[in-house]
Amino acid sequence: MIDSLPESRLWEEVPECGACGWARWRAAGEVCGKRYARCEACGVVRLYDRVAGDQLHRLYSGYYPGADPSPDELRRQLDNPTFAHRRRRLEAAVPVDRRRIFEIGCGDGNFLAYLRGHGWRVHGSEYDADTAALVRRRHGIELFVGDVADAVPPGAPFKVAAAYHVLEHVYRPAEWLAAVRRMLGPGGTLHLQVPNQGSLTRRLTGPAWASVMFPQHVYFYTPRTLDALLRRAGFAPLATTTWDPWHGPGTVTGSLVNQARRIAGRGLPWSDPLAGAGERVDAVAFAGTAAAARPPRLARRMLDAASVRLARVEALAGAGAVVDVIARVA
Ligand SMILES: [Zn+2]
Repeated sequence: MIDSLPESRLWEEVPECGACGWARWRAAGEVCGKRYARCEACGVVRLYDRVAGDQLHRLYSGYYPGADPSPDELRRQLDNPTFAHRRRRLEAAVPVDRRRIFEIGCGDGNFLAYLRGHGWRVHGSEYDADTAALVRRRHGIELFVGDVADAVPPGAPFKVAAAYHVLEHVYRPAEWLAAVRRMLGPGGTLHLQVPNQGSLTRRLTGPAWASVMFPQHVYFYTPRTLDALLRRAGFAPLATTTWDPWHGPGTVTGSLVNQARRIAGRGLPWSDPLAGAGERVDAVAFAGTAAAARPPRLARRMLDAASVRLARVEALAGAGAVVDVIARVA
């Protein structure tokens, strides 16, 4: 039980950078009394005081709520503009005869279902058996349950692997990428998307940046640091963008709402989820963050319109909300 474990068992600090192995770092801020570190060798920023590796179930059990969407709601979810955007990027890099993908950490399976509807053969994994059952029930897609860093999934090698908003959760990114490389065949393609630590919104809003997502997000990359990490792991990056039609505006909106809360003296949405006996941990997506302080409808519409423009401008400057990379096994 949470209240029977001392703080020292719930949290851990690891001096070595999981992206390059270097143990020297500089302070890079603090949230809820927990420190962030910038690696002196590779420049990657990480949550230095993090939830202990053997306590992660406290953060991730029930990450996806079980109530199934109605058919209308599911259609609306599959219309997410980020899906069409990802597919355009994938299909520009992958010829028709190689369209067989393994999505690591595929969550509710919606993107796999969307790709299948466009002729792709789809496979995927989830860490949590309940989430895998949900994907089987909603989409009829059988997932590999577990961590691809621990076991090669059946069906490997794959022509294409993808992980969207997964790598920022990964505690040992260099090892994880080595495992991903092993499950790809020669010339295999990898598509990654993570929050952009170098985004204009992050620089302007600091700890109010919606992608802070304390304490689930542990590693933060820029286009430059992710490029270097991929090359060290034996990948050749082919195409990078910082634009995403959904994460871009969503992250700007969430960050502005968080910043307004902070200025109004209502604090930030981040909290230490392991503090307090028996407190349930709720995973907060940035949409949820914004909803927690929902402004009136007209203000909300104006905010959304402004966020779309701001997100486009920062992405045009190469400093958008995400780092989205297509890479090939070198
Ligand atoms: Zn490093």
